[in-house]
Order: sequence, then structure tokens, then C-alpha cells
Amino acid sequence: MTRLRLILGDQLNPCHSWFGEPDPHVVHVMMEIRQETDYVRHHAQKILAIFAAMRDFAAGLKSRGHRVRYIAIDDPSNRQSLTGNLDALIRHYDAVEVEYLAPDEWRLDRQVAEWAAGLSIPCRMTDSEHFYTARDEAAAFFGTSRQWRQEALYRRLRRKQDILLDESGEPVGGRWNFDADNRQRWPGTPPEPKDTRPAHDHSGLWQTITGAQVGSFGHPRADALQWPLNRAEALAQLQAFIEHALPHFGAYQDAMSQHSRRLFHSLLSFALNVKMLNPREVVDAAVAAWRQGRAPLTAVEGFVRQILGWREYVRGVYWARMPGYRDSNALSHHLPLPRWFWNGDTGMRCLAHAIGQSLEDAYAHHIQRLMVIGNFGLIAGLSPQALHEWYLGVYIDAFEWVELPNTLGMSQFADGGLLGSKPYAGSAAYIGRMSDYCAGCRYRPKERVGPDACPFNALYWDFFQRHRARLSANPRLALVYRQLDRLPDTERAAIAARAGALQASLDAL
Ligand code: FAD
Ligand code: SF4
Repeated sequence: MTRLRLILGDQLNPCHSWFGEPDPHVVHVMMEIRQETDYVRHHAQKILAIFAAMRDFAAGLKSRGHRVRYIAIDDPSNRQSLTGNLDALIRHYDAVEVEYLAPDEWRLDRQVAEWAAGLSIPCRMTDSEHFYTARDEAAAFFGTSRQWRQEALYRRLRRKQDILLDESGEPVGGRWNFDADNRQRWPGTPPEPKDTRPAHDHSGLWQTITGAQVGSFGHPRADALQWPLNRAEALAQLQAFIEHALPHFGAYQDAMSQHSRRLFHSLLSFALNVKMLNPREVVDAAVAAWRQGRAPLTAVEGFVRQILGWREYVRGVYWARMPGYRDSNALSHHLPLPRWFWNGDTGMRCLAHAIGQSLEDAYAHHIQRLMVIGNFGLIAGLSPQALHEWYLGVYIDAFEWVELPNTLGMSQFADGGLLGSKPYAGSAAYIGRMSDYCAGCRYRPKERVGPDACPFNALYWDFFQRHRARLSANPRLALVYRQLDRLPDTERAAIAARAGALQASLDAL
């Protein structure tokens, strides 16, 4: 009478109701498979951290008396596909039923559902007990509106969950949004909090992974892997963030520096996305810090918005628009990624730092992802699908449900403005205002044309020239088009020529 319960690599929540009292009739199934290591080329740390966390999770279940069948990447019986292994296990255990936790990726959701439809035994999907919203809740909320807005869903969820509201049900502090207070450049103080994450030695597991011929890129840091690999470590990281970084999170949320890789960001996305942490406990911890006077409201609201607002919102967009969303390319951008996306070797200092750090750490914070790397991709006209594959591979927290809407929608405007109201395009003026990258760069941030002019400038203005027909009616871009129209024709022609030359030689930048 054995029942199989499938746990995917991003479903490592020991508090799920599945894991109460052990049931001798239930076998929990976990597997390391080439299907998952190979669907896109991943950063080495991403593969290593997921496998190490899965192994830790399986050991924890066993120690609590649960039955677990763990198929390692080099297990000779491993068929290297989810359904291939499940078929074999059904036969092996003579299973009478299969249960699985709701996958977050459309790809896996479809695969399991189609496989289940052909089974002769019952197969049931169970909620992952993780998100605030159901998969289709955002779609139901926005209905047929052409433009969706994060702010609207966020306010609804604040009210529904009673988060940061006063006694009359209005937002504390009298405002829903403190973004305007949260855009400061970081002058070098306060200092970035010390990184207290433990460094794990997983050299043995890394050897197993490479021995199984799994391809990857980026630095593995196998003997000093710093990502939390279980719930206890994730909780410790949450506490360290609340205490040392949250108080400054708001003010420097949009800042960037060559002297810092995370500034006051939480580094919690991996723990959240593999579900070691629940978003509710992260939000509650931040709100409690504000109530106890340990962090200002501007910081706490800014942080809560990322999790309660953006994280739930992008998931809603994903489930509403897949599978077609993956192919969106509203601006018809098709250029391949320059080769320095794979080694960080470019003279553009901002990109060298953001990409170099991504390759070394499998991490860059939001503004590096959006306003440096994504911004360049957008204004240079790189293929959104090529960028999507890069982002999906490179970041420790990259799972398609959250990466795809951020890349295609927010960063590349490839959905034509469904997710965000205007393209996140910026010139050197923006990067110079929010960072210290430009000092010492080989390019000149104040010049638009000429061999030493910052490439962001010509590409920025040319982007708006090229897409005038689609973008000029957008009221949020009225100022940009007024500035563009004030430029003499000769200047606009020089910008177009410089942008064309840059696009033709991206590898050399
Ligand atoms: P913090 O800045 O400390 O924020 C706290 C938490 O809020 C994060 O851990 C994350 O769970 C959530 N969050 C913040 N911004 C977003 C957002 N825009 N969408 C969803 N959740 C958000 N996030 C991922 O989790 N996985 C991805 O694959 C991913 N790809 C991205 C690709 C691009 C092009 C861009 C612009 C953003 C992407 N993000 C992604 C969102 C965001 O950049 C990361 O969540 C964040 O940088 C993770 O670092 P942190 O934990 O230090 O975040
Ligand atoms: Fe980046 Fe341009 Fe500044 Fe150099 S000058 S760091 S390329 S924005």
C-alpha cells in the first residue's frame, strides 16, 4: 500500500504539512537528474547549492523517521528524467498512489500533469503552502485590463493580510509607498554588514557532479559555498539581515558600488525560492523590527513591497501568460549576447563589476541586474530570449516563474508593457548618480558620441529614437522625448551612427 510523494529541488520546506508524523506507507522521493541540470546551462554554485540542500533535506526527513528514496546524480539506477524515475519507482514499490507538491515552473507542471494523465493509479497535486496568493489570483484580480500594476496587487495584499496598516485600516505613516525616500547613493558609510554566512566545504559533491559530466559555468566555490543549505541556516541569515542590514535597506536599495556586492540587500532569495523560508515569516520579521523601533518604516515598507508585492506579482504574471510569455519580443530585439557575458571582460566598468560578480558569486543585487546588465541589454537591442537563458542560468535564485517576468517583462519590456508601465532604460547619468562605477572607467560618462563616449549614452538615446512609434505616446516618457526632440538633427544622426557602430562591435566594448 505504498504511496510515493515527490519533492522537487525547490520544495525544501520542512514545515510543510506533509512532514508531520511519519507514515510507514509513504516513501518520499527526491532525485538529482540531468533533465534539471541541463535544461539551461547553470552556474556551478546553483547546481551545487541545490543538490547540497536537497541532500541535507533528505537527511533531515530520515532523521525524523520518514522514509526517503533519494536518487543521486551518479546512482546507476538513475534514469535522469523525472518521469522515467517515477515510472521505475512505481514498479519497484508497487505503489498505489503518487502525490506531488505544486511545481512553480510551467515546464514541470505540464510534464507531471501529462505524465499523471496516463497513469493507471491516482496522482494528486498538493499545494506547496508557500505563497500568499494562488497561481491564478493576480489574473482574476486584474481581469481583462491591458496593463497590470504591481502597486494595485500590493495594496490589495497589504489590506487582505493586514500588513503595516493602522487601526483604521490605512497604511501606517500615511503612505503606501516610500520609494521616493529610498533612492540614495551610498557614500561608503554606513559600512556594508559583515557576511556571517557559514562557508561549507562541498568539494566531494562537486567532484561527483563534474564526474557525472554535468556542464556548468561560473565559479563553484566548492570548498567555501556560502548559501544557506537548510532552514536553520536560512533563519540565521534572516536574523542577521534584520539586525544589521534592514535598517539601511531602504535608503540604499537602488545604490551600487564597486566596493560592495550586496550593500544592504538580504541575500535571502535562494532560501525563499527553495522554500526553506516562508515569505510570511520574512515579512513578519521585518514588520516586527519596525514595531520594536529597530528599523525605520521607509526600509521596512521597501522590503515588504519586494516580497509581498513584486514576488507575488511576477508569479501572477507568469502563470497568467505562460507558455506564450517566454517568446515575447515586443521590441523585436535580436542581437546575440556579447561574449563578455561569459567572462566579465569588458572595459565598461559597471558591466565588468556586475557581470564579474555574477560569475563569481551567482549573485548580483536587483539594481545591478536591472539598471546595469538588463539596461544594457535593452538599449543595445539584445535578444530577450538569450538574456532570459543567461539570467536563468547565472543566478542562485533563478527559477523560471520569477526570473522570466523579471527579465522579459520588467527588464526588457518584451511583453510590450504588461508588467511595467515603461522601459527601465538609463544612460550613464543614471549609473553615475547611483554608483561609483564611472570614476576610473575607460569611457567618458558625459559624452554621447566619439570613441571614448560611454556606450550607454548613444545606445540610450538611439533606443528611444528607434522605438519612437511604440513609446512616444507613453506619458511617462514625455520628458525623454522632449529632450530628444530638442537635440539638433546633426546630433541625432551622430548618435544613431555611434549606436550602430557599437551594436556592430559589442564584443569589443
Ligand atoms: P533583496 O533586495 O534583499 O529583496 C528581498 C526579497 O524580495 C528577495 O529575496 C526576493 O525574494 C524578493 N524580490 C525583490 N525584488 C523582486 C522582484 N523584482 N521579483 C521577485 N522577487 C523580488 N529574483 C529571483 O528570486 N529570482 C530570479 O531569477 C530573478 N531574476 C531577476 C532578473 C532580472 C532581470 C531582474 C531585474 C530581477 C530579478 N530578480 C530575481 C529579482 C531580484 O533582483 C532578486 O530577487 C534579488 O536581487 C535577490 O537578492 P536579495 O535576496 O538580496 O533581495
Ligand atoms: Fe558604465 Fe559608462 Fe559609467 Fe563606464 S562611464 S561605468 S560604461 S556608465
